[in-house]
Amino acid sequence: MSAADNAQRALVLFSGGQDSTTCLAWALARFAHVETVGFEYGQRHRVEMDVRLETLREIRAQFPQWGAKLGDDHVVDLAVLGQISDTSLTRDVAIAYEKNGLPNTFVPGRNLLFLTFAATIAYRRGLTVLVGGMCETDFSGYPDCRDNTMKAMQVALSLGLDQRLRIETPLMWIDKADTWALAEALGGAAFTNLIVEHTHTCYHGVRDTQHAWGYGCGECPACALRKAGFERWAAR
Ligand code: ZN
Repeated sequence: MSAADNAQRALVLFSGGQDSTTCLAWALARFAHVETVGFEYGQRHRVEMDVRLETLREIRAQFPQWGAKLGDDHVVDLAVLGQISDTSLTRDVAIAYEKNGLPNTFVPGRNLLFLTFAATIAYRRGLTVLVGGMCETDFSGYPDCRDNTMKAMQVALSLGLDQRLRIETPLMWIDKADTWALAEALGGAAFTNLIVEHTHTCYHGVRDTQHAWGYGCGECPACALRKAGFERWAAR
């Protein structure tokens, strides 16, 4: 962390999942002021929008040193994304893998849109860093999460806004076990417990079954990834 970072103001793309919650703590540990943005686009499960508010509330309550830096939360209505895509996240169809190897949960170009809307909010709010949980390690199937895509977006947005905007992706090269380890390094057991208890990852929106790694169906690709990462981390 550099002294320059301490003066920066950041906007975290915050979905209420494990990854973006870890990214939020990462940003709160290093920047002077941090705001959050969430996108509502006809997710099959409202639970995602509900847990993100719960998680913000818990962070403020349990980590006052972070709470002091945590500013406004922005929610952008991207219902239009549901109209122009046809995927299992927005329709009631089973999660499966397409011929091109991408899961049908993939909304084409979703992160490009999210980053563009986030950049517009950041510009208006005087925030100079965008932070997102994009990762090449676990979900290499999502081309809009790749490092080169992020670098290209950083250049495009900085040029288009005529103002330097940095995109930070602290999880880009680490796996899910290391994401748990990063959360622990940032906030100790209190923070990993907060992630287990309050964040949501499951594609099926299951919140009534709790496992050591959190709530979820335990079967969908998101649960499988979260569970495997947790078990590898716990076994260290
Ligand atoms: Zn699940």
